[in-house]
Amino acid sequence: MEEGKPSIVYRCLACKSIFTPEMMNPREIRCPYCGYKVLEKVRKETVKMVKAI
Ligand SMILES: [Zn+2]
Repeated sequence: MEEGKPSIVYRCLACKSIFTPEMMNPREIRCPYCGYKVLEKVRKETVKMVKAI
């Protein structure tokens, strides 16, 4: 389990798909699903597990 790792995801404004930077060609910023080039960068909030002792 990964924790405390900031993860950025992208959302395509055309098809509303959400994907990680690893899913797309780093030389080509575009939606891997539909090819649309206008993406919204979203910071995915990771839920942190806090141990209550
Ligand atoms: Zn798309």
